[in-house]
Amino acid sequence: MTKPSILDYTREELSREIKPAFRAKQIYNWVYTKYVDDFDGMVNLPKTMREDLADRFTLCPLKLLTKQVSIDGSIKYLFELHDGHTVEVVLLLMRDAQYHEDGVLKHHPRFTICISSQVGCKVGCAFCLTAKGGFMRDLTPGEIVAQVLAIKKDNAIPSNHRVNLVYMGMGEPLDNFDNVVKSSQVFSELDGLAISPHRQTISTSGLSAKILKLGQRDLGVNLAISLHAVDNDLREQLMPINKAYNIESIIEAVKQFPVNARKRVMFEYLVIKDVNDGLDAAKKLIKLLSGIKAKVNLIYFNPYGGTEFQRPDEKDMIAFQEYLTQRGLLCTIRESKGLDISAACGQLREQNQ
Ligand code: SAH
Ligand code: SF4
Repeated sequence: MTKPSILDYTREELSREIKPAFRAKQIYNWVYTKYVDDFDGMVNLPKTMREDLADRFTLCPLKLLTKQVSIDGSIKYLFELHDGHTVEVVLLLMRDAQYHEDGVLKHHPRFTICISSQVGCKVGCAFCLTAKGGFMRDLTPGEIVAQVLAIKKDNAIPSNHRVNLVYMGMGEPLDNFDNVVKSSQVFSELDGLAISPHRQTISTSGLSAKILKLGQRDLGVNLAISLHAVDNDLREQLMPINKAYNIESIIEAVKQFPVNARKRVMFEYLVIKDVNDGLDAAKKLIKLLSGIKAKVNLIYFNPYGGTEFQRPDEKDMIAFQEYLTQRGLLCTIRESKGLDISAACGQLREQNQ
């Protein structure tokens, strides 16, 4: 049996594990705001307690294997887990730091961290490289939390500097429901990373039953649906999960999901040349999303060796976007961040193997 990680525990759970309970707050502080490397560094804890902690828990369950820096400043990481499996995490630089003329910082850089929830994925989408390697295992809450901690540490991002999180790396988050929910709770702890649920987005291939269950938990997180197709035939070919949960069932589940007054549900639409890039699809999309507080994010398919699918033409992307926005549906085109380091999920891991 491997030891649990201290990162597996919410603040409340930790205060039940460690007595006296106020020590949990101190430990949370050391781990998440001072980025301490080992229990011995927690110098305001009694030595015996530090030894006891080291006996019972591990601290960071990840080892950095490689990283690649993109020309746009995004960084893609590959981490090794205790059993030798590897996961990818991407730090996306959404906006560079901005300075006044005298060199004084005007705006901090803005980061989004794209985290993984499983090693591999069971869903098996036809276009996805993560799916090609099959499914290995779920990540523990601590292994999910550690991704953010390791990246903040590696980039010396100050603890009080806000970051956004997207569960859009490897794996299907709702297929690892309990651990993903737990990680989200740990992320939002005020004595810890303090990443508000409104800054967290869970992306799913559309497990309708789990979308309903997540909605009932009312965590306050944002929801993103990987739609990619507007009719069930095509969606089944691209995403076999559509046989179990079709488009209509997803729309129904989304309608019941609690959405913050200032937010919208994001529908991701991966655009593949000559597959789903026509305006007939855009037209159906308008109809499908009517009555939902939605925004659409068009994503360029990012090709890799061995795939039959192709990147769409820019003019078709723009025509698709204009069709939607002219009819009142919010739509953005995802900048291809980190394209030179193949930032679509599964691609760095593949190279490494
Ligand atoms: N399993 C979840 C979250 C991880 S996938 C989901 O599917 O939503 C995150 C996103 O990466 C998905 O929207 C997926 O469509 C996209 N993606 C997968 N392969 C890609 C590729 N080759 N190019 C661009 N995006 C890709
Ligand atoms: Fe899994 Fe998402 Fe890839 Fe589909 S796109 S195989 S759900 S990780």
